[in-house]
Amino acid sequence: MQKIVLMGECMLELRQAKDGLMLRSFAGDTFNTAVYMKRISAEQDVAFMTGLGQDTISQQLISVCRSENLNNQHISTKSERHPGIYLVETDEQGERSFLYWRDKSAAKEVMQFVDEQAIAELCQADLFFFSGISIAILETEHRAAFWAMLERLKSAGVKIGFDPNYRPRLWNGPEDAIAEFTKAYAACDIMMPGVEDFKLLYDIETLDDILAFCQPFNIDEVVLKNGPESVYCQVKGELTHVVVTPVTYVVDTTSAGDSFNGVYLSARLAGKDVTSSVELASAAAGIVIQHPGAIAPVESFAGIRNSFADY
Ligand code: ADP
Repeated sequence: MQKIVLMGECMLELRQAKDGLMLRSFAGDTFNTAVYMKRISAEQDVAFMTGLGQDTISQQLISVCRSENLNNQHISTKSERHPGIYLVETDEQGERSFLYWRDKSAAKEVMQFVDEQAIAELCQADLFFFSGISIAILETEHRAAFWAMLERLKSAGVKIGFDPNYRPRLWNGPEDAIAEFTKAYAACDIMMPGVEDFKLLYDIETLDDILAFCQPFNIDEVVLKNGPESVYCQVKGELTHVVVTPVTYVVDTTSAGDSFNGVYLSARLAGKDVTSSVELASAAAGIVIQHPGAIAPVESFAGIRNSFADY
């Protein structure tokens, strides 16, 4: 069984319903990706790696991971802290805004609890996936331990996947993000950026400029997402262009990129070609954005699961 570990932060999401009540769920970019990976392919062992505490919210998140059939082996509950929380508010025009309480979340100190045994277990994985958010939220003094761990995994032959997912407010300025991302570009075998990441950080947005930017890093597989526009993949130098069929009924684009990543990675690990993998991933993202929140209902994924088996 192939093993995939996705590292990051998952938060309690509070969302105001029309009647004023609060709906609760759990979300976070790499967590969302893990959920969608496992939903699409039961044959892969998918683990979400994070730091939690011993509080009831931490326990509920562990239960959610279990109910999504994720492997919880890499979740540490040794922190004295609690998971982060965010509130989604929607105004009368339908504009969403987000309020976060995550400055002291347990996930920030996850590296403190990664010991030799944990690294040895991580070295057994086929793919280790993280995002810019996974690095941004780490306590600054733990970043060196993260990069040292990544080097160990790479040396052990674990493939490394990275989505920059640049969120300016999580960084001490763009230079801070650029310095950390540059290490990630150099380490990764597969990179799954959005055009927006390059636009915000380097002021480039054309395909040629982005590919020229990536070229010196010799990344095996670059998958460039651009909302309802085309997806471009460059695999070992060969460029593939896949047209996305835009969805007109869009409820909430949260997690479009995360679900795309999960389904694409599952498909590639299952041996599907680039075009089929992008088509499946786009179709999955197209379903996710027709539902509110990051995690669409399981039933909405039945069609994609069948297509995955047929492709
Ligand atoms: P992110 O969440 O990282 O900003 P994008 O907005 O680029 O991600 O979307 C990721 C993928 O989701 C796209 O490559 C595309 O396949 C799919 N997608 C996004 N928006 C739409 C849409 N309106 N219609 C159909 N597919 C979409």
